Amino acid sequence: MAKHLAKDAGKAATASLGWWKAHRFLLLRRSCQLLIIALFIIGPTLGVLRGNLSASTLFDTVPLTDPLILLQTIAAGHWPELAALLGGVIVVGFYAVLAPRVFCAWVCPLNMVTDLAAWLRRKLGIKLSYRWPSSLRYWLLPVLLLGSAVSGSVLWSWIDPVAALHRGLVFGMGAGWVLILLVFLLDLVLVEHGWCGHLCPLGATYGVIGRKSLVRITATNREACNKCMDCFNVCPEPEVLRQPLKGGDRKVMSQDCISCGRCIDVCSEEVLEFKIRIGANKDEG
Ligand code: SF4
Ligand code: SF4
Repeated sequence: MAKHLAKDAGKAATASLGWWKAHRFLLLRRSCQLLIIALFIIGPTLGVLRGNLSASTLFDTVPLTDPLILLQTIAAGHWPELAALLGGVIVVGFYAVLAPRVFCAWVCPLNMVTDLAAWLRRKLGIKLSYRWPSSLRYWLLPVLLLGSAVSGSVLWSWIDPVAALHRGLVFGMGAGWVLILLVFLLDLVLVEHGWCGHLCPLGATYGVIGRKSLVRITATNREACNKCMDCFNVCPEPEVLRQPLKGGDRKVMSQDCISCGRCIDVCSEEVLEFKIRIGANKDEG
């Protein structure tokens, strides 16, 4: 089987598995992302989710706090209330156990914008891209914390396009659309997966949190791989797939995987699946 063109990624899977099966995780993710936005919109009436992505309450009882905002608040010298601390512990605990960067693929609204830019890049055949180290986002974390400590304010909240989009969708879009447009253009024209794959400190935070998590993409059936490269073409962090498809551990152990499942969708040979990680390096070969 010859390598497929990036713009054709998923076509073979749609032909052999059917449209629904070849889009199942994409549809589930979009439903989840939109449902969360809808719950915030009806929050004041129904009370399921009140607040915003930085700080909210579930059923008016369970606090949920963005861990990066929490860290910056502490770095800025403001000790958070007990509920905010508890909310941080709950969020960190949930994402630490589940799967790497689940927030990115299943909750973050900006993921829909960056996915759109990546899809358009593939369809338009844009190959040119500046090369930035993907470790850049991890260096931004201490920079943000230091900046917050020096300035005495939560730095990220000034420039956070995730919160800007979420606020825009729930309460009405203000000047935040400029930030969203910049992210879209960065990803479309300048750097492939520029924002989520290289810059976003929130994605980096969830990467660190989920590095030991349980559910992993696994190349269970890698002997059937026909090297069409469809999974690489749709994966927002393609480097993470290299080793599991080649040899050794079949699991995607990288914390950079966003657990979107799109690689499962587009594989006509059904090589990949979500699996619970039990121990390490047990299924080599
Ligand atoms: S990397 Fe940042 S912007 Fe991208 S999906 Fe994750 S949290 Fe959202
Ligand atoms: S390896 Fe699969 S689940 Fe992980 S980011 Fe890539 S496409 Fe998504």
